[in-house]
Amino acid sequence: MRVAILSDIHGNRHALEAVLDDVREAGADELWCLGDLVGYGADPDACVELARERFAICLAGNHDLAVTGGIGIEEFSRGAAVSARWTREVIRAENLAYLEALRPSGVEGAYALYHASPRDAVWEYVLSEQLADLCLDAAERRVSFIGHSHVALAFVRENETGRTIGALREPGSTADLRERHWMLNPGSVGQPRDGDPRAAWLLLDTEAEQAEWRRTRYDVAGAQDAIRAAGLPDSLADRLGYGQ
Ligand code: ZN
Repeated sequence: MRVAILSDIHGNRHALEAVLDDVREAGADELWCLGDLVGYGADPDACVELARERFAICLAGNHDLAVTGGIGIEEFSRGAAVSARWTREVIRAENLAYLEALRPSGVEGAYALYHASPRDAVWEYVLSEQLADLCLDAAERRVSFIGHSHVALAFVRENETGRTIGALREPGSTADLRERHWMLNPGSVGQPRDGDPRAAWLLLDTEAEQAEWRRTRYDVAGAQDAIRAAGLPDSLADRLGYGQ
């Protein structure tokens, strides 16, 4: 089976629609999402409706939980808090109900899925090798997928040395998951923070046990206009332009 793994869509309909076109062309059989359907972006309803229609698996992210009231927004930055409050006001009841039913982690066959990390599925940012090493110990499967940091990357524990190595992943780079312990982040569909403004996702082949990082061009200006038209902070529109 070929699975497209998406994360951190953040109400960016323009990015999600472009990725869904790309996913169809790549021949993926299923879509899994690691959470944060909403927050920051101007189209929460459109994104949740596409998720309800297309995603076989969907986790809850911290921004989804902030909108449903599952967690408080005290720890959010100003832009994140403003957009969480705005999303809460505008989102349709049936889409809010869908978000309320989501959980921040799950296990699917040979794979463990976490919005943030195996140790703390809601909040922990896994960006260092030291932390990734602890997370690999806590993971429920040999291979896990995480989102939350909005950075396309992989951590792998080397067999020979037992050391955990991490690296950013360029589009087209692959991982052979047949052996060793892995933690993979597809990057963010709707708000990349690794300097590449294109929407990020990952294609997993469960038979070959191979993963490939992908990037999709989308209408960034359209997403920026929608954020401004909604009256959300300008900074949320600006950052989409440089992928930070
Ligand atoms: Zn996020």
